[in-house]
Amino acid sequence: MVNDNKIGWKFDNTYTGLPESMLTRLSPTPVKSPELVIINKDLSKELGLDFSKTNKEQLSSIFSGNILPSGTETIAQAYAGHQFGHFTILGDGRAIILGEHITKNKKRYDIQFKGSGKTPYSRNADGRAALGPMLREYIISEAMYHLKIPTTRSLAVVKTGEKVFRETPLIGAVLTRVASSHIRVGTFQYALISEDKNNLKILFDYTLKRHYQNILSSKNPAIDLLIQVLEKQVDLVINWMRVGFIHGVMNTDNMSISGETIDYGPCAFMDIYNPETVFSSIDHNGRYAYFNQPGITKWNLARFAECLVPLIDSDKNKSIQIATEIINTFGEIYNKKWIEMMRKKLGLFNKNDDDEKLINELLSWMDEKKADFTNTFCVLMEQNIENNKIYNDENFIKWKNKWKKRIKLNNKPLTEAIDLMRSVNPLVVPRNHKVEEVLNSANSNNLKPLEKFIEVLKKPYENKNNTKEYQLPAPPSNEKYQTFCGT
Ligand code: AMP
Ligand code: MG
Repeated sequence: MVNDNKIGWKFDNTYTGLPESMLTRLSPTPVKSPELVIINKDLSKELGLDFSKTNKEQLSSIFSGNILPSGTETIAQAYAGHQFGHFTILGDGRAIILGEHITKNKKRYDIQFKGSGKTPYSRNADGRAALGPMLREYIISEAMYHLKIPTTRSLAVVKTGEKVFRETPLIGAVLTRVASSHIRVGTFQYALISEDKNNLKILFDYTLKRHYQNILSSKNPAIDLLIQVLEKQVDLVINWMRVGFIHGVMNTDNMSISGETIDYGPCAFMDIYNPETVFSSIDHNGRYAYFNQPGITKWNLARFAECLVPLIDSDKNKSIQIATEIINTFGEIYNKKWIEMMRKKLGLFNKNDDDEKLINELLSWMDEKKADFTNTFCVLMEQNIENNKIYNDENFIKWKNKWKKRIKLNNKPLTEAIDLMRSVNPLVVPRNHKVEEVLNSANSNNLKPLEKFIEVLKKPYENKNNTKEYQLPAPPSNEKYQTFCGT
């Protein structure tokens, strides 16, 4: 028995109040012999959960779904989505939401298992997940959180004691994901086409209450929701661009209405700067390449706008016109925020007409010389640890001189420019070769490298003694690095 009162779970489930066609009530499939791999103590604390008196066996039972805390009402959500541009009916095929946990300061979080068995939405797949991809999501989502980027988080990973069969048999695992909700663009797409015409309005009202209370009583909440989601998604993709993050599967079912990064599958951080970088083995046309991410964000938002058309105005043409105008603001808002972000990366205060040119000259040089994305900014902050000859390149030195002149226009001490840069340029990101290294160790039962890595990723902007090995660029053999969907 596990004493729930001592742990502090406080479930208050509201999504279960939505129409039954939006979800399926079912329990996780029990697993054979669960074994805890990792638990996130910091996140537990933030959630107001105390596992200090829960032993490892009990934790293994809880985070595999073999024992459910009281107050949970387990469900799989229904949704649809455009996958690589093609519309499909989906749903949680291997995820189960336990319920909504309320923290002491009244924040509401979905607690979700990923890899917890088949659901009616599993199609032909097994509903299970392998240890590597679940730990990968744990590492990268936690890294994103500490990089100060909105994201779902990871509370625990448990091995199931069962094999999952992909190309080879792999160790099975369940991840516990924490999200401010799992309402996606795809959830709206699903509601839009449901037989019950009330579903869309019900989901819309629910979403406002859950995430956008500030527009509950506005003149036209549907217009305001589109504007606010657009702004959140612009901010999110700008953050990704800032740290060189490539999501990899920006399907509409993987875009959260709350503005959090969600669904870590074949995502990865770019080492060498190349705007066309794609890591995902299934993204043959580069639809979700680094430089395509803003355009795809806009495309996904247009799909979201289509769902809101019936709610904007009773005159369909008028609605479409309004929605189109809002979507068309994307480019201008994005460009403005992108330059602001790049100015920070370069320590530039105030605005100067030549800033965009200066920024693009650096990026072109990085592209041409195959410079490391993260480390180039470290070099400018004089935080570099590797002695890379490319930074002695004549063109880089010329550019640097221009940049130094521009810094003088800040009319502020250099230290302030450096502080600004330090606040947005990470020294450490989860580099692909390091991620692979710790996952390989974890797969052969050595968790030490994983634990050390997670500690380092908690302070990505600080120069600590233990960061050095994580700052080194990838070995040249990694240039063809590929990620595979997290299935
Ligand atoms: P993703 O690419 O992770 O966003 O997943 C796309 C869809 O496939 C979602 O509906 C998932 O629930 C489903 N899915 C992915 N992997 C599995 C699996 N192993 N078993 C069942 N459904 C899955
Ligand atoms: Mg998904």
